[in-house]
Amino acid sequence: MRRVDDGMGWAGRGLCTNLDPDAFFVQGAEQQQVKARCGPCPVRLECLADALENRMEFGVWGGMTERERRRLLRQTPNVSDWLSLLQEAEQSRSHRSA
Ligand code: SF4
Repeated sequence: MRRVDDGMGWAGRGLCTNLDPDAFFVQGAEQQQVKARCGPCPVRLECLADALENRMEFGVWGGMTERERRRLLRQTPNVSDWLSLLQEAEQSRSHRSA
């Protein structure tokens, strides 16, 4: 895992637990490969919410690059609970595809 356990309980369940932390701090086309690793991660939403709430400036977190996170933060600047918002969006998406 590329972050220490932050007390949130999810950090140790990430699929990147045993990966080189530097693998998530790449640029360009390599970022797409890294993002694909996050797709099936069971804590993807928690990871992404944490990165958004803490304004992580670099790296791929929760399947989003820094540029994608910056855009999302610009588009939705007043979110106080990213995890709830992401979970609602995910549920809505899965209902539409069912
Ligand atoms: S979403 Fe990606 S970066 Fe976050 S814990 Fe899972 S594998 Fe690691």
